[in-house]
Amino acid sequence: MPHDLQATLRQHFGHKAFRPGQEQVMQALLEGRSALALFPTSAGKSLCYQLPALLMEGVTLVISPLIALMKDQVEALCAKDIRAARLDSSLKQEEVQQVFDDLRSGAIKLLYIAPERLMSESFIERLKRLKIAMMAVDEAHCISEWGHNFRPEYLRLSHVARELGIHPVLALTATATPSVAADIRKAFDIAERDHVQTSFFRPNLHYRITPCPGNKRKELLTKLLLKRKVPSIVYVTLQQTAEEVATYLQKNGVNALAYHAGLPDEHRHAAQDGFMTGETDVIVATIAFGMGIDKADIRAVYHYNLPKTLENYMQETGRAGRDGKPSVCEMLACQDDRIVLENFTYGDTPTPQALRLLTDHLLRQGEEFDLSLYEISGSTDIRPLVIETVLTHLELEGLLRPLGTFYSSYQYAFNQPEARILAGHKPERQAFLRRLFSCGKRGSKWTTVNPDEAATQIEESRERILKALSWLEEAGDIQLKPSGARQKYRLAGDRAERDPEQAAQRMQKLFAEREGRDIQRLNQILELASERGCLTRWLLRYFGEELEQDCGTCTGCQDREQGKDITEPRSIPFSAIPEITTEDVSAIRRLLDDRHAALRTPRQLARFLCGISSPATSRARLTRLDTFGLLEHVPFADVLAQAETMR
Ligand code: ADP
Repeated sequence: MPHDLQATLRQHFGHKAFRPGQEQVMQALLEGRSALALFPTSAGKSLCYQLPALLMEGVTLVISPLIALMKDQVEALCAKDIRAARLDSSLKQEEVQQVFDDLRSGAIKLLYIAPERLMSESFIERLKRLKIAMMAVDEAHCISEWGHNFRPEYLRLSHVARELGIHPVLALTATATPSVAADIRKAFDIAERDHVQTSFFRPNLHYRITPCPGNKRKELLTKLLLKRKVPSIVYVTLQQTAEEVATYLQKNGVNALAYHAGLPDEHRHAAQDGFMTGETDVIVATIAFGMGIDKADIRAVYHYNLPKTLENYMQETGRAGRDGKPSVCEMLACQDDRIVLENFTYGDTPTPQALRLLTDHLLRQGEEFDLSLYEISGSTDIRPLVIETVLTHLELEGLLRPLGTFYSSYQYAFNQPEARILAGHKPERQAFLRRLFSCGKRGSKWTTVNPDEAATQIEESRERILKALSWLEEAGDIQLKPSGARQKYRLAGDRAERDPEQAAQRMQKLFAEREGRDIQRLNQILELASERGCLTRWLLRYFGEELEQDCGTCTGCQDREQGKDITEPRSIPFSAIPEITTEDVSAIRRLLDDRHAALRTPRQLARFLCGISSPATSRARLTRLDTFGLLEHVPFADVLAQAETMR
C-alpha cells in the first residue's frame, strides 16, 4: 500500500508541503533504496529520514558527530510525540540501560548516536539483535578523504552498515564536490539516480573579490564597514588576528568584537549575544564562529584572510542573507595568507620517525592492548586526529580490531564548598570522604581520580569509591564525568603483514597524498580569487551545479558590465616573503637556551615558530611564549631549514 507521505507530513510534523528534493529522497528510502541528500543548510534534510522512520518497521539509526545538535533534535522530536532517543558519552549508565530497554521493546523509532559508538563491539552485538529500519548518516562528506573535513571514524560506517546488513542508508550533507559525492555514493552503494541534489544558488548573495595588499587590509576593512554599517561577520584565520583586527576597528569607530575558541566562555557568549541582539554590529571571528548562529539579517560576510577551503568559503558566506535580502560576501584577497595556510598543512604531516614510533607502539604490543589517545599523542607528539586516522586505516586493513572504549578515571568538581558537603554526614563517612577527596589530581576546577589507584591509596574498595562519587553527584554536591578514555584493541590479520616499518611507510604515503590535496585546495581558492568570469557560476560549478545564466551581481559580472579590461586574470597582491632577521635568530637562540623538551627536533621547533601548536607544546604551555608564531609568515621549508642549522 503506498504511504501517504502528505498526511504524515501534516499530522506529525505540521508542515503543509514538501520542500524541493524531500519527497524524492523519501520515496527512494521507502522503496528500499539508499539515497544521498545533498541540500544546502536549513533546506530540510532531517525530515528526509524523520518522516520515513515513522513509516518503516524497526528503529532508524541516525549517526551525527555533533552532540549538541543531536540533543536539540531529539528534544524537538519528543516534543512532537515522536519516540526518539540518543546515546552519547554524556549519558549515565542507568540512562543508557533505559534506552536499551526501550529499544528492545520497540518503543524508539529514531536513535541518534555518535559515530565513535560504532567502535564498540558490544554495542554492535546489541544492534544485531534489533530490527533496524535504516541508517541516516549526517555530515556524510566526512567519509571522504577528498573532503575538507575528513573524520576517520566515518570510514568505519559503511563497513558497519554492511556487517549488520543495514539497508537502506541515507547519506546527508550540505557540502560535497562531485568527487566527494562519488565517494559517498560508493561507500554506501547509492545509485546515481538516488543522488538528490537541490540548488545551492542564492541570488541574494553578491560575491566580491577585492585584491588588497596585506598591510592595507585593516584600513580598507574599516572603510567598508563604516560605509555599509550593517550586521557583519569578518572571518580571519588566526585567533590573534581576530583580536588585533577587532581592536583596530574599535579604535576607528566600528562597533566590533572578537570571537574565537581561545577566548573565555563569558567573552564568547557576550560577543555572540551582542551580535544576535544587534548591540554589536561586527564580529571578527575565526571559523569557530557560525555553528548554530541563527541570525537571518547578516548583511555582509568579509574574508579578511583567504578561507581555508572553498567548502569553508561556501559555508561561511552562506551565513549572510538568510532572510533572502541582498547581502555582500567580500573577500579581501591577498596571497600573503597562503604561506600561513600552507604551513598548517606542512606542519600537520607527521615525520617518518614519529609514524614509526606510533606503528611500533600499535603493532608490537601484546595481542590485546589498550591506549589513550591523549597519552600516545603526548609521547609521539602527533595530533590525536592524525593518530585516529592511522588507527582507522590499520583497522580497515584488518590489522587491528577495536574492542571499545572504557574510562580509566573520573573527574569531579564541587558544587558547594567541601566543608559544607562533609557537614551533612556521620563522622565515619566524613572521614572516608575526606580521604577520598585527598586522592587524585586537583586542577583549578576539576579533580581527576582513578578509582583503582584511589582504592589502593586509601585502602577502600573500588566499589565504595564509585558509589560515593555517584551519590554525591545525585545529591547535587558534585558534578561528575568520566575521563581518561582508553580504547581497547586486539591485533588481527596475518602476523607477516603487521610489520611496523611497512605500515609506517604506507601511512607516510597516505599523509603525503593528503598534503598534496590540501595544497591543491589552496590553489583553488586563488583560482576563484583571480577568476574574471561569473564568480557565482564558478563556485556552483565547483560543487557540481550548472547555473543557466550569470548571476549579474558579482565582481566578475560587474567588471564586465562596466567594460573593465578582463583579459588577464585578476592579480592578487603578494608581499615579498619575509626574511628571517638576525633578531629572529637571537630570539630563537634564547628559546633554545631554555631546553624545552617539546622543541627537541628541528621539525618541532619549526612548527612552533610557524605558530602551529602540537600536543607537546600545548601541554608544556609553550604556545603562550612570544616566540610562538614568530616566523608564521615565512614558508615552512625555510623555517625548517633554519631550525636544522640551529638544532
Ligand atoms: P538541514 O538539516 O537541511 O540544515 P533542517 O532539517 O534542520 O535543515 O530543517 C530546517 C528547518 O526547516 C527546520 O526548522 C524544519 O522544521 C523546517 N522544515 C523542514 N522541512 C520542511 C517543510 N517541508 N515545510 C516546512 N518546514 C520544513
